[in-house]
Amino acid sequence: MKYLKKKLTIENVKVNLIAKKYGTPAYCYSYSKLKRNIENFKKSFQSFSPLICFAVKSNTNRDLIKEIKKFGLGADVVSMGELMMAVKAGINPKKIVFSGVGKTFEEINYAISKNILLINAESESEIKLIEKIAKLKKKKIEIGVRLNPNIDAKTLRQISTGKKDNKFGVNSSTFIKLVNNYKNSKYIKLKCLSVHIGSQILDHKPYEKMLKSIIKILKKINYKFEFIDLGGGMGISYNDQEKKLDYKKYCIAINKFLNEYNSKIIFEPGRSIIGNTGTLISKIIYIKKSEKKNFIILDAAMNDLMRPALYGAVHKIMPALKKTKILKKNHEFVGPICESTDSFLNLKKFQDLKENEIIVICDVGAYGMSLGSNYNLRPKPIELMIKGSKIKIIKKRQKYLDFI
Ligand SMILES: *Cc1c(COP(=O)(O)O)cnc(C)c1O
Repeated sequence: MKYLKKKLTIENVKVNLIAKKYGTPAYCYSYSKLKRNIENFKKSFQSFSPLICFAVKSNTNRDLIKEIKKFGLGADVVSMGELMMAVKAGINPKKIVFSGVGKTFEEINYAISKNILLINAESESEIKLIEKIAKLKKKKIEIGVRLNPNIDAKTLRQISTGKKDNKFGVNSSTFIKLVNNYKNSKYIKLKCLSVHIGSQILDHKPYEKMLKSIIKILKKINYKFEFIDLGGGMGISYNDQEKKLDYKKYCIAINKFLNEYNSKIIFEPGRSIIGNTGTLISKIIYIKKSEKKNFIILDAAMNDLMRPALYGAVHKIMPALKKTKILKKNHEFVGPICESTDSFLNLKKFQDLKENEIIVICDVGAYGMSLGSNYNLRPKPIELMIKGSKIKIIKKRQKYLDFI
């Protein structure tokens, strides 16, 4: 995104024109950014050529997943719906891994029928259920077991998943017990140790600790896993100051790990692939002025973008038309929903704004649309992709009659 003669553009298309043509609120993705992210990710870890499974929960748009598939990526799914979407988008089932603490009989059965690469089990009960289904089908099922390494990922509390009080995975003693119980099973083939310690991780050190704790456990068991699945969680920059995760340092740590334990590496990145590719274009409905601050009331709301309300996440806001006049007054950008948490951003100053002007909320490609809902019976926004200055509708705006 950049300003050309004061007008904000996405891949050289003016944001104001997109808003006028397709209406607001609108999610708009940049294909070239997506391509750059994937190529950069691949290049950064090419020394051990991992299997990269895109975390579908970060963005479930079928056309975007199709584009991601063209770069050879697989998928990490966490529900039957996501598995069906990944298959529908053409992802090779042999590149799909299935995570999640509460997979049902129906979901496991479906995953087995699709012959996916791995079901990453997260409890002893789940492994038992997989074994039962395998017996019924007279098949040997390949699984991973998710370890909870008890590592603080140093990220938002709400998106940390690798500490012992988080619901995910099994602790090291249970892990060792499960490997011993199932390594000679007739119906279960243990193929993978998986971990995922959290999301939006900016420091490589928690990953180093995670790798060390994996090695420690692997040394205690005499068993060779074909795959080590390191999950996702690579953090991106949501503002101009914040650094993103240093892939180089993470890569060095993994190479060290592979020197001690040679195996294939799986990654499950979501945010780092899709996060900075998307913007939410919105129109200012009203500006309500009070003594202390101006409320900028947008036509986008927490049902369209939940992250600020859900985790207190901060997304940058940019005006579609840049002006020089700055208003030194508190600004709160809010949506129209009847919740006080329906608020996107508080700023001490912003450029002078007018009603009906367009703004964009930045870096909403991950956990934006996919976390959206119909709360307040608001229809879900349109999704657009800009590829080579052509605008493609990749999801139509939901109509009221779709749900009323
Ligand atoms: C959510 C999730 C991911 C993706 O996390 P990002 O922070 O988007 O990279 C990967 N693996 C599992 C198991 C997850 O739950």
